[in-house]
Amino acid sequence: MIKGTDPIRVVKGVGAKTEELMHNLGVYTVGDILSYFPRDYRIMQEPVKIADVKENAVNAILARTASMPRTRKGRRVAVTSCKASDGFREIELVWFRMPYVKNMLTPGKNQIFYGRVIRRGGKLVMEQPVIYAYEEYAQLTGRLLPVYALTKGISNHLMEKLLSQILPEDTAFPQDPYTDELRERNDLVPLPDAIRIMHAPRDMEALSLSHRRLAFDEFFFFLLGIQRLKGAGSAEKNGFTFADSAFLKETAAKLPYALTEAQQRVLTETAGDMKSDHLMQRLIQGDVGSGKTVIAFLLMAWCAHSGYQAALMAPTEVLAKQHFETIQSYLSLCGLSFPVILLTGSMTAKEKREAYARMENEPDALVIGTHALIQEKAAFSSLALVITDEQHRFGVKQREALSKKGEKPHYLVMSATPIPRTLAIILFGDLSISVIDTLPADRLPIKNCVVGPSYRQKAWEFLTSEVEAGHQCYVICPLVEATEQTEAENVEDYAARLTEALPERIRIETLHGRMKAEEKDRVMEAFLRREADILVSTTVVEVGVNVPNATVMLVENAERFGLSQLHQLRGRVGRGEAQSYCIFLSAREDAATNERLSVLNHSNDGFYIASEDLKLRGPGDFLGIRQSGVLDFQIADVYQDASLLSLAAEEVKRLSEADPELSDPAHEGIRQRLDLTLQKQLEGLNL
Ligand code: ADP
Ligand code: MG
Repeated sequence: MIKGTDPIRVVKGVGAKTEELMHNLGVYTVGDILSYFPRDYRIMQEPVKIADVKENAVNAILARTASMPRTRKGRRVAVTSCKASDGFREIELVWFRMPYVKNMLTPGKNQIFYGRVIRRGGKLVMEQPVIYAYEEYAQLTGRLLPVYALTKGISNHLMEKLLSQILPEDTAFPQDPYTDELRERNDLVPLPDAIRIMHAPRDMEALSLSHRRLAFDEFFFFLLGIQRLKGAGSAEKNGFTFADSAFLKETAAKLPYALTEAQQRVLTETAGDMKSDHLMQRLIQGDVGSGKTVIAFLLMAWCAHSGYQAALMAPTEVLAKQHFETIQSYLSLCGLSFPVILLTGSMTAKEKREAYARMENEPDALVIGTHALIQEKAAFSSLALVITDEQHRFGVKQREALSKKGEKPHYLVMSATPIPRTLAIILFGDLSISVIDTLPADRLPIKNCVVGPSYRQKAWEFLTSEVEAGHQCYVICPLVEATEQTEAENVEDYAARLTEALPERIRIETLHGRMKAEEKDRVMEAFLRREADILVSTTVVEVGVNVPNATVMLVENAERFGLSQLHQLRGRVGRGEAQSYCIFLSAREDAATNERLSVLNHSNDGFYIASEDLKLRGPGDFLGIRQSGVLDFQIADVYQDASLLSLAAEEVKRLSEADPELSDPAHEGIRQRLDLTLQKQLEGLNL
């Protein structure tokens, strides 16, 4: 009997090494692996003749090797290649950094090669093919196959093998937290069924029902969590007395640029809040590049001028350090000399102690940091304002954590995620909303283009020429490393190919979410300092970073991203004076994809793009890569599942009217799951 709380080790086939790798994926228990849902699904096609392969797409061919595999040292990586033939035509097979692939080939015998085919120098080339025995492949064709996010050492096959042992065990599954009435009212399939189907879908319809159920859960518990923490802060008395707000205008006049009208309006609104009888709880939504940081600076300086501390919290170390430097330079530009304190998780114990001491002793300090700011030992002496930048979900809980340290501060959330107003009201129900709806006027609009893979060579030449002109570039790939699903570009292989193709003097770095925090910081800082020319990255660069010298954003597999996310990515360039460019390279050249991407070509307005996104991507399109940029839900998507969000909101309302304390035994399941959710979210804060 396997239980959900059992360590993953109890599953046959998990030894010490696999267990450790599983931990890297956040999988500790049997329950964890059950909720480690596939990232995507694919249907394996019947193999085709080499004469019939589709270029720039993934194909399966049945062929035998027609030459000895050869590994040569490419300019910087090992390249292994050989010819394969199906008796009529030949194709070249190429692997990067995989010399051991030789041992997987059985010369003279037919095998299936599964990978993307491109044309290079007039010849057909299949890149990084996965090799299957024919019988093995035949087993897989025609079924909906789950594709898991993996890590080195954990194959998709292994995930499937482990799950196949767990799925039949009823005792491994969590109990459904809902009452039957709640489930029936909202047409929700039972939780264990939903989980089973996610891992082993019978068909699309079943999958869609499971998705619906799990997305509902995410919304429901998210909203319930907000509910619980809400009320704690609303209509709270304002215990602070601020100096004349003329200070804001006078300080702004010393900046090297004039504030836009929208910035001025938001400044007036926030300052008004802070002088009112109640604590401010406001969300500022401003498109990427609309200039939110300077608002934060002015309000923080006003606090300092009034004898109070203010804190600015960023989601990453890099962004915190960048804000620290920006705020310091704004202060000196404006002739102000308030103390500025940086506090991040990676600082040494001694540095942290010093920062804590200063937070106790400098009542007019501007404090900037990551989540380290809300850890136990960080005590503010006179905190009047907390601003969180670019984080959506944790605002409420962070506020809760901070408010334990004395008088509750004013609270401001800054976000570049363009959430349609109706959704924002549901998600940030307890916050007032301000919108910065114009960009600074002196900005050169970014030049955009949407192109197919045949343009890649040109795009690379363009990267080279921009680097030679002294600029930097981003390349975004959807995946981290090669997986059995080879359709999409991945950072590691792409960087290897780019390194092969571009002149040696061009310095290429890689960045992705699976790197250690310090390693990510090192790379990002090197890029900031212009020690790297091209950054090949996953969407981890999406958040807030300001590298004004970067002028090109090349997004590979643009068809796999949501429009809003692409818009966020585009916001990483066009931040300086030079002309910037954004190239959306789509591997799918059908009309629908082109139409969708062309929205980006025609508009730079994040809110408009978000609403188009919602219109164009009908429901049921969730088999693409999940949109990860918008509000961090695992399954749900605030745009596509908007109607589900309203349903969940209604249920939460109903529940909190009927049983606000969740003391009814029928709601025990909900109470337990809520505690777990809140606990997980709070753990997430300390990363
Ligand atoms: P975001 O809203 O995306 O956080 P930032 O605050 O990083 O944007 O601002 C982007 C860039 O615009 C910064 O380099 C900043 O100095 C500049 N900026 C901000 N406000 C103005 C303005 N009113 N006029 C000109 N440039 C501005
Ligand atoms: Mg910002």
